[in-house]
Amino acid sequence: MILGYKVLYLGVIYRAMLTKKKLTYFKKLLNERFEELLSEANKTVSGMTAHKENLPDPSDRASLESDRNFTLRIRDRERKLIGKIREALDRIENGSYGICEECGEDISAERLKARPVTTLCIDCKKRQEIEEKVKGL
Ligand SMILES: [Zn+2]
Repeated sequence: MILGYKVLYLGVIYRAMLTKKKLTYFKKLLNERFEELLSEANKTVSGMTAHKENLPDPSDRASLESDRNFTLRIRDRERKLIGKIREALDRIENGSYGICEECGEDISAERLKARPVTTLCIDCKKRQEIEEKVKGL
């Protein structure tokens, strides 16, 4: 009986340690990605202001304009990703990180490694994609 409790207790400790280790790993991963995105965004901004010099050729201007649209689209994606990373870091802090928001199951470590900002397990993600396809028809 006492031994049983001890094993259970050790199991809980072990699981907590494992979770903490996993969270520390993903926190580092997310922070690195966050820093990367911020420095990319800064580069884009300084690049855009540097390019505003006089361009007499209209075709140069046109290509610069489409370059800028491209850059702005990228920045929009970066901005969204930065927001998602912030949310993921918040979830690490409040203890809901790595739990699927649809079914409440643990999201596999492999999936989190591939996509650390995800809030859905692979099954729910697949179901969501199918539902989106059906709605699109
Ligand atoms: Zn799920």
